[in-house]
Amino acid sequence: MERFDTIVVGAGVSGLTAARLLARAGRRVVVLEARDRVGGRVWTERSDGVSTDLGASWIHGVDGSAVAAAADAFGMRAMEFTVGGYQADSRPIAYFGPDGRRLDGAATRAFAADLRAVDASLLGTIAESDPDASYRDVTERAIAEQGWDADRAQRVREFLEHRSEEQYGAWIGDLAAHGLDDDAIDGDEVVFPDGYDVLPTRLAGGLDVRLEHVVSRVEWSGDGVVVIAGDAGFAADTAIVTVPVGVLKSAGFQIEPPLPEPVAGALDRLEMNAFEKVFLSFPTKFWDDDVYAIRQQGPESRWWHSWYDLTALHGVPTLLTFAAGPAAEATRRWTDEQLVESVLAQLRRLYGERAIPPVRLHRTAWQDDPFARGSYAYMTVGSTTADHDELATPIAGVLHLAGEATWTDDPATVAAAMHSGHRAAERVLGRSVPISDTWAD
Ligand SMILES: Cc1cc2nc3c(=O)[nH]c(=O)nc-3n(C[C@H](O)[C@H](O)[C@H](O)COP(=O)(O)OP(=O)(O)OC[C@H]3O[C@@H](n4cnc5c(N)ncnc54)[C@H](O)[C@@H]3O)c2cc1C
Repeated sequence: MERFDTIVVGAGVSGLTAARLLARAGRRVVVLEARDRVGGRVWTERSDGVSTDLGASWIHGVDGSAVAAAADAFGMRAMEFTVGGYQADSRPIAYFGPDGRRLDGAATRAFAADLRAVDASLLGTIAESDPDASYRDVTERAIAEQGWDADRAQRVREFLEHRSEEQYGAWIGDLAAHGLDDDAIDGDEVVFPDGYDVLPTRLAGGLDVRLEHVVSRVEWSGDGVVVIAGDAGFAADTAIVTVPVGVLKSAGFQIEPPLPEPVAGALDRLEMNAFEKVFLSFPTKFWDDDVYAIRQQGPESRWWHSWYDLTALHGVPTLLTFAAGPAAEATRRWTDEQLVESVLAQLRRLYGERAIPPVRLHRTAWQDDPFARGSYAYMTVGSTTADHDELATPIAGVLHLAGEATWTDDPATVAAAMHSGHRAAERVLGRSVPISDTWAD
């Protein structure tokens, strides 16, 4: 059996960050990765000269961001694209009313003001919410406080449903009241024209990463850990396990003895979501100029309500929309033709026959990915924000969980993955190290 100081399970951003910091500190580290590539949920597909990010694409706010600092140090070209965090009006957005007609400037501003009013009320309704309240419960209370007529309230209600779905891939009634507490964006958002995967590729440089090593078992005791991948066994003083929550909960991934409290309880209350990207490239651009996104309101917006204009990013007319929450579950087994027809029907409501069929469809299938089992974790009803950090509670001083779901501040992001990897490395080392060591030469 090969022996190491630390075994890292998973070569996503969290695992690679931890491994890099440990290797830099002189530790013998191996990274065991199930896939034939590094990066995990940061994954860029390249064809026809276009880099398509199938997993993460945005840094949701570059101010003070460790990911932005790393990307900068690695020379990654970034492009400003600020509506990724489902903001109402931080940049120009073409809103269409329930009748399919574009709202004018005054109507758009009034709608955004309504959203701000509800957001202000939400601070109070969330703070006072019962432990088993859902995001639906608190948003309904916040809407009721406004005293609006039914239509005006319904437009805001739809937006809040979509925010829960686009931000967390979860139906608003399934998301905990505190499930969007971290939803602040500091500074501009950016995306990467050459692909986000440059980040994990650079992080992996010089590390001992064993690809196509599917870990099935992690045994821990006060003396250390043994990790089983296929027929091979690996032993170490410590292990950092960074697999997604969905894998941690799956029968094929055993931890022995089972995870103790508070880790087990926190894991129970977090669930992988249903969230897929749908990229549509068109022969010509038929939608509004000078807008970052297109949004439609009303009953027709139930599934397809927001389209992001990636034309500048991809160099060809492209819209990105999301199948999120119920839409992702319902369309999971649809054929490509069904999916295109369904999305196009909505674009035709807004643009008429100008909305021509796409020449290229790219859709993700994170729900069916055995090494992800969804896109990222969300807080189910009954969960508290502390569950994220509690999931990373060190176990017997030898086993550490890391990954996006283990970071309270801004979970479900690349930043969370990086910070959680940094924290795990510090805990293994028993001392603090600057996070900037992650991207230092
Ligand atoms: C569609 C989508 C859009 C997103 N958009 C954004 C965004 O715009 N901005 C943002 O900041 N974040 C976004 N995210 C979230 C972000 O991608 C993740 O939070 C982050 O990449 C997670 O990193 P991680 O290291 O925690 O997990 P992962 O990247 O999942 O790394 C875990 C690794 O463990 C491996 N693994 C799994 N099972 C096993 C096993 N049995 N044995 C060995 N290895 C195993 C996996 O293959 C993977 O490589 C998005 C994610 C998705 C899917």
